[in-house]
Amino acid sequence: MNGGGKTTPTNASSGTGTLANLLHEQRRFPPSSDFTAQANVTAEAYAQADADYQAFWDREAGRLAWAQQWTNVLDWSNPPFAKWFVGGKLNAAYNCLDRHVEAGRGDKVAYYFEGEGGDTRTITYAQLTDMVCQAANTLADLGVKAGDRVAIYMPMIPETVVAMLACARIGAPHTVVFGGFSADALRTRIHDCDARIVITADGGYRRGQPAGLKSAVDEALLDCPDVRSVLVVRRTGQDVAWEDGRDIWWHDSVEQASTHHHAEPFDAEHPLYVMYTSGTTGKPKGILHTTGGYLTGCAYTHWAVFDLKAETDVFWTAADIGWVTGHSYIVYGPLANGATSVLYEGTPDTPHQGRWWEIIDKYKVTLLYCAPTAIRTFMKWGAQIPDKYSLASLRLIGSVGEPINPAAYIWYRDTIGHGRTPVVDTWWQTETGSIVVSPLPGVTAGKPGAAMKALPGFRVDVVDDEGQPVPNGSGGYLVLTQPWPAMLRTIWGDDDRYVSTYWSRFPGLYFAGDGAKKDDDGDIWVLGRVDDVMNVSGHRLSTTEIESALVSHPIVAEAAVVGATDDMTGQAVVAFVILRSEAGDGGPDVVQQLRQHVAKEIGKMARPRQIMVVAELPKTRSGKIMRRLLKDVAENREIGDVTTLADSTVMELIRSSMPGME
Ligand code: ATP
Ligand code: MG
Repeated sequence: MNGGGKTTPTNASSGTGTLANLLHEQRRFPPSSDFTAQANVTAEAYAQADADYQAFWDREAGRLAWAQQWTNVLDWSNPPFAKWFVGGKLNAAYNCLDRHVEAGRGDKVAYYFEGEGGDTRTITYAQLTDMVCQAANTLADLGVKAGDRVAIYMPMIPETVVAMLACARIGAPHTVVFGGFSADALRTRIHDCDARIVITADGGYRRGQPAGLKSAVDEALLDCPDVRSVLVVRRTGQDVAWEDGRDIWWHDSVEQASTHHHAEPFDAEHPLYVMYTSGTTGKPKGILHTTGGYLTGCAYTHWAVFDLKAETDVFWTAADIGWVTGHSYIVYGPLANGATSVLYEGTPDTPHQGRWWEIIDKYKVTLLYCAPTAIRTFMKWGAQIPDKYSLASLRLIGSVGEPINPAAYIWYRDTIGHGRTPVVDTWWQTETGSIVVSPLPGVTAGKPGAAMKALPGFRVDVVDDEGQPVPNGSGGYLVLTQPWPAMLRTIWGDDDRYVSTYWSRFPGLYFAGDGAKKDDDGDIWVLGRVDDVMNVSGHRLSTTEIESALVSHPIVAEAAVVGATDDMTGQAVVAFVILRSEAGDGGPDVVQQLRQHVAKEIGKMARPRQIMVVAELPKTRSGKIMRRLLKDVAENREIGDVTTLADSTVMELIRSSMPGME
C-alpha cells in the first residue's frame, strides 16, 4: 500500500475475493456483572449512533470546550476530503490543560513520569499548563507562527508532551519522530513536511545507556538548510556539539519564559499534526490530522473503550509518543479527558524484566494499554516474572498494533489480568486517528483474537474484490463505510496519493489495507495486511492465522509467517519462530513438531514448507513485525528498506542462520 500507486492487493488473482477461514476459536469472555453495572457505555449506544451518526458526533464534540460553536457537523460535499465541525473554533492545548485548571482540577496529576534510571516526576495539570505556556512563548519568540511545522525528536520525557502541546497551542503542526530513528529518517521527515524548527534533547536513556539525539539532529541538519533553530532539552548531560545562533538550551529559554500565554482558538480544521506511519510495509506516509474532529475522536474513544473514570483511574499506554498510539492515548485523549497517566521512558527489561509490573504496582495503574509484541515478549520470559507482583489495581487491559494471537490474549488475560479484567483488542491506524474497532468492555463478550465490532459512531465492513460486503463466515478487505471525525484529512502535500491509497480501490469506501473476516456472528477478526496474504495452491491464507496456530504451541513465544515463491504451489508458507525461554532450543524434531501442530490446528495446506527458529524478529519501533524483510530472506533477495527497523542487526542474525533452511 505504498509508493503512491493505486493499492492493489497482491494475490487477488485467485479471484475468490475471500480469505480462507481457518482458525476456530470458541472461547468467550463476557464482562462480569460488576463491570457492566459501572460501565460508561451500554449496548444501546450502538443503535443510538447508528440511527444518526452525525447527531451522535454532534453530541460527542460537546466533550470539548469550543470558543465558537460549529454550524455544520460534517461537510462531505467533496469526498474524500472531509470537514468536521465546520465553522467551529477551539484550541487543543486549552482543551487539554487550562480548562481543567479553570474547573478547579489544577492539582490533579496529569503524569507520573518514571525515568528509566528510576528518577521520577509528578506533574499536575496546573504545572503542565505553566510549562506549555512557557514553551509556547519561546516558540513564538523564535518566530514560529500558526501553520509552521515543528519537528520533535525526543526521548519519552515530560518535555516531549510539553513541546507537542506548545505547538498545538500556537497552531503550529508538530511532527514527532521516534527518538530511535536515524539521522537519515529524521532528515527525510523534516524535508517532507518542511519543518523549520527542531525540538530535541541532548540524549535519552536506552537500556541504561545515554543515547545521543542532538548528535543525530546535527547530522540530519547538514542537509536541512531551512531549519533555523534547534531547541535542546538537557536530559542526560552528555557532551553535545553546539552551533551558536541556531541551538538554544530549553533551560535557558523555555524555563525562563513567562507562564502566561493566551491560547488563541483555531478553526476546527486547522492542522494539528503530521505523523508518519510506522513504515511496516514501505515508505512512511505523512498523515495529516486536524484539530476538532481528531480531539473529539480521541476523547470519546479513550472514555468509551477504556471505561475511563477520570477521577480515579491511572491510565498507562506503554508505547512511544513517537507512534500514533502515543499521540492519541498518552497525550491528546487522556489530557482532553483530564485523566492521570503514567509516562515511562525506558524499555521493559531495564534494569530487570519485571519493570512494567513494578510500575503498575507502584502507581496502582488501573488501565494498561500496550502492543501484542510486548505481550509475546513477556510470554517468552515466562509468567514467573509478573507472578512476583500484585497487579491487583488493574481493572482493564488493552492491546493495539497487530493482531493479538488467541494464545497471547489468554496469557495476557490470565497472567496480567488474573482472569478478572476485560481485554480490549483495539484495531486502528495512524490514518484513523483513534480506535475504530474494539470490544466495549462493559458490553462485549470478548473472543480471543477478534477485534469484534466497530465502536458506536463508526461503520466498518468486510468486502470482496468487487467491494460487496461478504457474508458472515467469510473473509475479505476491511473498509470504513462512512467518514469519522478523527479521520486523516490527506497525506501531507500529496492529495493524489491520499485519494489513490485509501479511496480508489473501492469507490466510496475507505480501504484500510488490512484483510479481515466476519465470523458467524458478524464479529470482525483482523487477519493482517492484504499485502501479506499468501496464495498457496489457490488458497488465500492469512499470515495471522498461521502465526496464531504456531503461537498456540506451548514452546512458541512468537511467530512470523511469509509467503515465498514456490515452483509447485505458487507460494509456500515460510515461518520464523521464537521459542519460549523454558523450551531451550526446542530439541531435534522441533520443526517437525511445529509443522504437525499447524496441520492439526488449521489443516495441511497451511503447513509451513520451512520453519526457522530465530532469536529475534525484525520489528518497527512500534513493535510490528516487518514481514516484507523476512520475505526477502525467504526468497533469497537483497533485503529492502530497513530505515524504520528498531534494531538493524536483527536481519544479519537471521540471514546468518539461513543454512538451517532446507
Ligand atoms: P505503514 O502503513 O507505513 O506500513 P503501519 O500500517 O504499520 O505502517 P500504523 O498506522 O502504526 O502503521 O499501524 C496500523 C496497522 O496496524 C493496521 O493497518 C493493522 O495492520 C495493524 N493493527 C493495528 N491494530 C491492530 C489490531 N488490534 N489487530 C490487528 N491489526 C492491527
Ligand atoms: Mg499502514
